[in-house]
Amino acid sequence: MDRLIEALSKLPGIGRRSAERLAFHVLKSSAEEAMQLSEAVADVKQKIRPCGVCFSLCEGEECGICADGRRDRSLVLVVEQPKDLLALEQTGMYRGVYHVLMGRISPLDGVGPGDLTTERLMERVRQAEANCGSVRVEEVVLGLNPTLEGDGTALYLSQQLEAAGVRVTRLARGLPTGGQLEYASKAVLADAIQGRQSVR
Ligand SMILES: [Zn+2]
Repeated sequence: MDRLIEALSKLPGIGRRSAERLAFHVLKSSAEEAMQLSEAVADVKQKIRPCGVCFSLCEGEECGICADGRRDRSLVLVVEQPKDLLALEQTGMYRGVYHVLMGRISPLDGVGPGDLTTERLMERVRQAEANCGSVRVEEVVLGLNPTLEGDGTALYLSQQLEAAGVRVTRLARGLPTGGQLEYASKAVLADAIQGRQSVR
């Protein structure tokens, strides 16, 4: 019990009291339920890996979105985290593909472009073979969070991408400044996708 409480209390937002409550819940639940939880935890670390093209989370080499020939692979939407991708996918409004940066440039935390997947993004833009379906990228939509760091990252990427000769747009500013994509409503995100704007 101590080990379980200790492990649970390391989860974000879970204090000692909550961890104890969860641990007792597991203790009382059926063996089947408890095993399902433990297997799901093990599977997420063993089976889920970043997509070889867009770095979204998937179980194989390439995620379902990159592998889907009905998606517009010439249109690439750049997001910070897989959870931003999930929020945008839930709107059902976006038909292109994605690129997950796995963070944002944050000089104060010592995170530079080299710590993110920016170089792979540039490869996808420069060579069609590096993109899913070997389709040439025509437009990159910047979908970073409207925060100071998100804006700084967007500025850096727009300069790199424009130098590579690709059209660069950004999601429309329906999102409140300082807000997080993942918490925005479906309607706001749908508007942001439809009303995307040129960066300059
Ligand atoms: Zn992918």
